[in-house]
Amino acid sequence: MWLMLTLLGIAGALTLAMRRAPVWQWALAAAVLGALTRISTENGLWLRTDVTGWVLALLPAVLLGLFAVPALRKAILTAPAYGMVKKILPRVSRTEQEALDAGTVGWDAELFAGRPDWRKLLEIRKPTLSAEEQAFLDGPVEQVCAMIDDWQTRHERADLSPEVWQFLKDKGFLGMLIGREHGGLGFSAQAQSQVVSKIASRSVAAGITVMVPNSLGPGELLEKYGTAAQKEKYLARLAKGQEVPCFALTGPHAGSDAAGMRDIGVVCHDIYEGKKTLGVRLSWDKRYITLAPVATLIGLAFHLTDPDHLLGDTENIGITLALVPADFKGVEIGRRHYPARSAFMNGPTRGRNVFVPMDFLIGGTEYAGQGWRMLMECLATGRAISLPAIGTVSIKQALRVTSAYARIRRQFGIPVGMMEGVAEPLSRMVRSAYAYEAARGLTASMVDEGQRPSVLSALLKYKTTDEMRNCVNDAMDIHGGRAVQDGPSNYLFAGYATTPVAITVEGANILTRSLITFAQGALRAHPYLYAEIAAAQQADRREGIEAFDRAFSGHISFMLRNMAGSLLHGLSFGAFAATPVQHEMSRWYRQVSRYAQSFALVGDWTVAFLGGDLKRKQRLSGRMADILADLYLMSAVLRRYEDEGRIAEDRAVVDAVMRDRVHAIEQSFAGVFANFPNPVLRNLMRVLVFPLGRHSRPASDRETHRLARAVMQPGEFRDRMTKGTYVSTDPRDVTGVLEDALIKVIRAEEIETRFIRAVKKGQVVRRLDRDAITDAVEAGILTEADAATLRLADQATDRAIRVDDFAFDALGTRQSRPATGMLGEAAE
Ligand SMILES: Cc1cc2nc3c(=O)[nH]c(=O)nc-3n(C[C@H](O)[C@H](O)[C@H](O)COP(=O)(O)OP(=O)(O)OC[C@H]3O[C@@H](n4cnc5c(N)ncnc54)[C@H](O)[C@@H]3O)c2cc1C
Repeated sequence: MWLMLTLLGIAGALTLAMRRAPVWQWALAAAVLGALTRISTENGLWLRTDVTGWVLALLPAVLLGLFAVPALRKAILTAPAYGMVKKILPRVSRTEQEALDAGTVGWDAELFAGRPDWRKLLEIRKPTLSAEEQAFLDGPVEQVCAMIDDWQTRHERADLSPEVWQFLKDKGFLGMLIGREHGGLGFSAQAQSQVVSKIASRSVAAGITVMVPNSLGPGELLEKYGTAAQKEKYLARLAKGQEVPCFALTGPHAGSDAAGMRDIGVVCHDIYEGKKTLGVRLSWDKRYITLAPVATLIGLAFHLTDPDHLLGDTENIGITLALVPADFKGVEIGRRHYPARSAFMNGPTRGRNVFVPMDFLIGGTEYAGQGWRMLMECLATGRAISLPAIGTVSIKQALRVTSAYARIRRQFGIPVGMMEGVAEPLSRMVRSAYAYEAARGLTASMVDEGQRPSVLSALLKYKTTDEMRNCVNDAMDIHGGRAVQDGPSNYLFAGYATTPVAITVEGANILTRSLITFAQGALRAHPYLYAEIAAAQQADRREGIEAFDRAFSGHISFMLRNMAGSLLHGLSFGAFAATPVQHEMSRWYRQVSRYAQSFALVGDWTVAFLGGDLKRKQRLSGRMADILADLYLMSAVLRRYEDEGRIAEDRAVVDAVMRDRVHAIEQSFAGVFANFPNPVLRNLMRVLVFPLGRHSRPASDRETHRLARAVMQPGEFRDRMTKGTYVSTDPRDVTGVLEDALIKVIRAEEIETRFIRAVKKGQVVRRLDRDAITDAVEAGILTEADAATLRLADQATDRAIRVDDFAFDALGTRQSRPATGMLGEAAE
């Protein structure tokens, strides 16, 4: 009887928790269960009548019943909890608040809520381009890629050629985000992302040059906040490249903590164009500014103060943005940094007591003090496009060249890519190329639907650029000396050298992973936390408790459901979790649903327990960010597989990605549990998430070896994995030489096998004085036609594996030492 009642109690509790039942239903269920415990089965069925027994049996129901009465609940539970929560919940500063308000939530909120509504993901528009955008990609973008000589750009000129610059300006590349009404191309986020991608696959320096004016900067800021006069004055000129913009936020003392900048503007009167004018006296010291050395228009961020109250009551107005022409009196600009020895323009700018009129402020005085919000709003969308584009295409480009090289390069008599040790990193690149392209396309589509996905863009930024670094390293390793020896024939080294740039900009990766993603996600995308914090920060206690009570009640039922859901999914390995499809991928949808539930549970408890300490406990929040990122990647991959019509050939890639991600998620959870500061919660979470232990395995050696083999074959699979990269088949081109060799080597594959077999058998002897292929023809092993095909393959391979050498005194530079910087000053 007691066993039956215990089981009934557990089943009832799990059901109520899963249904997020209101508290009165819990009270009712507790009353029924309590009454059942009073039944005796001794000598037939009868009800016990002792009063104490009944009181104890019904006590839980009564207590729960008290919570069902709002006034009592507020007095007993909500008010004390409110006081406690006020102390432990993270405080949100003004800049954080503005960053939070700047973005929108979408699929991230579904994952945080623990029960992703798959329809919401599947309804997002497909990553498509308009006919005009596609024509631009096939026309001017292909043209400019063909024009770029990356060695000349990065080594000989340390700049794009004048022809490339002019072409970029004339064709509107610098004004893709500017609307047509202002003479811009008005391209979608998807198109901008693909244009930047393709160019960056040819030259990272050119990619960054195009990316920057189309990312956070004067163009976007003017489009969104500019006054009519500012739009009129600048947008058409920016769109046509008659103005080159840069945006200066970073300074020597303000890197990641950009809001801590020391640059100031003081509202005052001064003489401007012969008249007494209200304006701002600006002093700034900015560095690392992309395009600054060639910019004609500088976007500047600074703290604005109004000590004489010329604008109103507020003295410290806050971060404000201005547009200052580069040739304005007092502006210092033009010097260059040398970022990772890349050729894109980057440098410092300074100014001291430069007086600018009020209409230099972006949006005019109305937007004075709104700078941080404006920047965060633009960042939420810009970060979803630019660096994911560069990161993803770098992965795909690394795969494109490495898959060819690994096939044509032979050592020990076989292509190096066939060796298991090499196939391992090569297949990792295949998985990454598929997964990150999926996430890039999906996120750009979200932006095109009007979302400003601040959390997803943050995680995508650090994930893609980290993975880019891994893949480029893999590519370097597979190429060996061919990629180390720099020169005009080297197609990898520039990308390798510039990986730290992408890691650093638009929110350095360590900070973005360990501080921003989970903490901001929890605040923004958690279904109740934001409301609770807002309630806790209300000045009026009564109103605060009222608002807190609503959020807190929901939060408790949310937590109970996550506990029950995690446990049930853990016991069934996700077999009953939600899936929107019934086909070969449904198990992976279920795994995402399962782990989203666990993520919601652990995320919730992590925030609740750590509270304001979340910013300090970055290793925990970094792991939680990784779990969220993996769930997002899995979602994006499933979406891509559907969008592309469930291509059978891609199934193995999707399966492999999913296995890896599930494994990574389990490891991240294990890391959280092992390091969670509270032992009770730690063990409880472990039991709820992995009641039967962890069992996932990453993709097997066999599966992944197949992927490596498949990608070394020219054809649809290889093209799909590397789509969006610039591909030349011209044997005189830096990467075309590889494509040419691959095609010829594959054409000669069968002949080569016969030939090698003959060499191994000793039927043909390799000798210095004779061509072994000719011997093979004479020995009747090959026909003349075979020999010609084999020779073509051999010659093409020989061309493709060559590296550059230079005259003894051709290397080294005689450039002057820098005038600033520690060693520069010492040398002066
Ligand atoms: C090539 C290049 C181009 C750039 N272009 C521009 C531009 O056009 N305009 C512009 O305004 N800026 C630009 N930047 C600046 C860029 O945004 C900053 O470099 C970036 O914000 C990081 O600042 P920092 O380099 O000073 O690193 P720091 O802020 O000194 O950070 C050092 C390390 O500490 C970590 N860190 C810092 N704070 C935290 C924290 N709270 N928690 C955990 N980790 C933390 C960071 O992740 C990083 O790893 C550019 C930079 C480069 C290198």
